[in-house]
Amino acid sequence: MKRFYGMDALNRFLLFIAGCFSIAAMLLAIGHVAVWYWVAFAFAAISILWFIFRMFSKKRSKRRRRELYIYKRLLYNIGSAVLPDREYLNDLKEYKYYACPQCAQRLRVPRGKGRIRITCIRCGNRFVKKT
Ligand SMILES: [Zn+2]
Repeated sequence: MKRFYGMDALNRFLLFIAGCFSIAAMLLAIGHVAVWYWVAFAFAAISILWFIFRMFSKKRSKRRRRELYIYKRLLYNIGSAVLPDREYLNDLKEYKYYACPQCAQRLRVPRGKGRIRITCIRCGNRFVKKT
């Protein structure tokens, strides 16, 4: 089991999509619109087959580097389109925000520097935080 690629964010998404389309197909089966039932069924089948293919794939690097990367970039692009404040998102990636425990001043510190001592610009209070 360990040699298989297994679960990742894209597989969870595919499983979710398959579930949605399965439910849609079941609901549509009650009605009389046969075409839409088959469309929903086809999407459910494609999602679940792709999920199974990825789950048990042995080409780990291809799954991870190409597909997951494309998926995550797509998600990021959709996210930036929905949330117009792109600069703020980039800012959050590079900096971490803390509030001074003494005066609640908002302080911005660079990420990935380990444990650092932060000096409050307003009241001069010092505290240690992980970045
Ligand atoms: Zn302060």
